Amino acid sequence: MNSRNGSVKYSLIIPIYNEEEIISEMYRRVSAVMERLDDTVELVLINDGSRDNSLNLMRELHLCDPRVCYLSFARNFGHQIAVTAGLNFARGQVVVILDADLQDPPELIPKMIEKWQQGYQVVYAQRVKRKQESWFKRLSAYIFYRLLRRLADVDIPADTGDFCLMDRQVVDLLNAMPERNRYIRGLRAWVGFRQTAIAFEREPRFAGEVKYTFSKSLSLAINSLISFSKVPLRLSSYLGLLSAGVALLMAILVLYWRLYEPHSPVTGLATIMIAIFFLGSVQLICLGILGEYIGRIYEEIKGRPLYTLAEVGGFDKFNQYSVA
Ligand code: UDP
Ligand code: MG
Repeated sequence: MNSRNGSVKYSLIIPIYNEEEIISEMYRRVSAVMERLDDTVELVLINDGSRDNSLNLMRELHLCDPRVCYLSFARNFGHQIAVTAGLNFARGQVVVILDADLQDPPELIPKMIEKWQQGYQVVYAQRVKRKQESWFKRLSAYIFYRLLRRLADVDIPADTGDFCLMDRQVVDLLNAMPERNRYIRGLRAWVGFRQTAIAFEREPRFAGEVKYTFSKSLSLAINSLISFSKVPLRLSSYLGLLSAGVALLMAILVLYWRLYEPHSPVTGLATIMIAIFFLGSVQLICLGILGEYIGRIYEEIKGRPLYTLAEVGGFDKFNQYSVA
């Protein structure tokens, strides 16, 4: 896709959304690691529609250090799409994805590269501990990853984020996938090849607010379940069957009461109201589940580009997504 393809060994991808307080410290730590690597490195920063000074800082880094390249979205498209853009543009033989907030320690990268040299195409970091994250986030993450493992068609390892190393072969496969709903961890597991984990303790955020708000995390969770599992659809069929069973039982009961116990206190309006509400809610739940899947089909079929680029630095602009 790019003219310099092949001349870069390692690409580091970092998505950035309103991280002005972090960028210089992140660059300091990441460049210290880059110095230690044995070959050419590029640092691909993706500005996901930041409204603060992040883009200016990225431009400055690019001017001072030719290894730093950047992509700037025309608006906020979300973390997964920012990573996807990074994967589209990265030129390295080996690609590493990490967060800007230093929760994923860049010092782990040489260890990941060692694993790659041993013949693994994917090396993902697995959190054994999360420092200073709220109990709500830890609990919901714990439950979610286990639920996903039970429901998903592919074996998505628990407690892994997007922090990982991938071989060019895997990156090319991910880039060739046309799907719009991109749950990178899931797609990465789906691809297969030799994969291994490295355990690490997740550091607290270096500075600034968490950019993954509750609603963003929830929508990522729902997206990943819908993209990697058809179990919710089956569940809605089961729910239908169950309510049909309950209805049959109720019919027999009501008939019995009508014929043999005409003065039974449970007959009458209350029963009818409960039945209506019960069936109504079962129908709405099933419609909702169905809607989630149909909504995904609609998204896929529209075929819009995944992101729009307003500016790039350090890349040839003939990439298909480039607007200039
Ligand atoms: N991020 C992004 N777009 C968004 C939200 C977050 O590019 O809409 C980036 C953010 O700048 C950071 C990474 O994604 O580099 C992870 O975000 P955060 O630390 O807020 O999430 P968490 O640590 O809770 O996963
Ligand atoms: Mg973070």
